[in-house]
Amino acid sequence: MRTPASHLAALDGLQVFERGWLSSNNVLMFDDDGQATLVDSGHVTHAAMTAALVRRALAAAPPGTRLARVVNTHLHSDHVGGNATLQRGFGAEVWIPPGHFDAVRAWDDDALTYRASGQLCERFVPQRQLAPGGMLAAGGRRWEVLAAPGHDPHSVILFDAHEGVLISADALWENGFGVVFPELEGESAFDDVGAVLDLIGRLDARVVVPGHGAPFTDIAGALQRARRRLDGFRSDRSRHTRHAAKVLLKYHLMEVREQPLAEMLAWYAATPMLRSAWAEMAGALPDATVHDWARALFAELLESGALRLDDGVVRDA
Ligand SMILES: [Zn+2]
Repeated sequence: MRTPASHLAALDGLQVFERGWLSSNNVLMFDDDGQATLVDSGHVTHAAMTAALVRRALAAAPPGTRLARVVNTHLHSDHVGGNATLQRGFGAEVWIPPGHFDAVRAWDDDALTYRASGQLCERFVPQRQLAPGGMLAAGGRRWEVLAAPGHDPHSVILFDAHEGVLISADALWENGFGVVFPELEGESAFDDVGAVLDLIGRLDARVVVPGHGAPFTDIAGALQRARRRLDGFRSDRSRHTRHAAKVLLKYHLMEVREQPLAEMLAWYAATPMLRSAWAEMAGALPDATVHDWARALFAELLESGALRLDDGVVRDA
């Protein structure tokens, strides 16, 4: 029987909270001086659960162990949504990549794209920067902080070369990678995605702890699947746009759980990133409206079982 990747010796001392899709995974690690570090904090709607997971892990650690800091790979709402709760409840510092440091200090909703993507996030205050090219000492390990643009221009990934462990955020999953958000805003980023996959291929990682899904060891296989997916998007941009719009629609329903169909369509039409996705497709569909487009995507999500419709109310499935 294959050893689950989460039981591998390379992960000894790391606690991976595998969360699902609305909340990113969280990785908790302990240093001998009683300071614990958490990588990524999940979505705001699951913040109480994140705090409970951390509290339970701290209770099982040597007395006096405290959550000293939360470090974020990037600022998407599913990775930083527990930050505010963890700052309040544990007095933890928050370290984030430098790209949007000032925007977070000022809570500039537009720069942070929470408004543009129609996502929810609670304001938090970062104390320090986690700069690419630097090292993060945490969990008795030394993590290289590597720039990983593509899915998000300012994302970082963390690599412990000694044990061969990569915390890959949304740059590489076992099956694919996160939506390439800059592409939805008219900036080309597929090349960045490819360059980061190449970088990961050169790291000689033995285990990947992704932002979503279980840790895995078949890194060559994951890279191959990711490259195939990227090639598909490159050869037909509209495939990515369509995929991204459906992901955002499904994500929205995961956030709100349920919503009357008319309201969901109105939300779609009012969300800037989804409007620009539509603007890109509109030329090929001259008689259609943004609502028609949203309905068509919604129909595909119903068909695949990702959403349900009961009496005019859309529900997450
Ligand atoms: Zn992300």
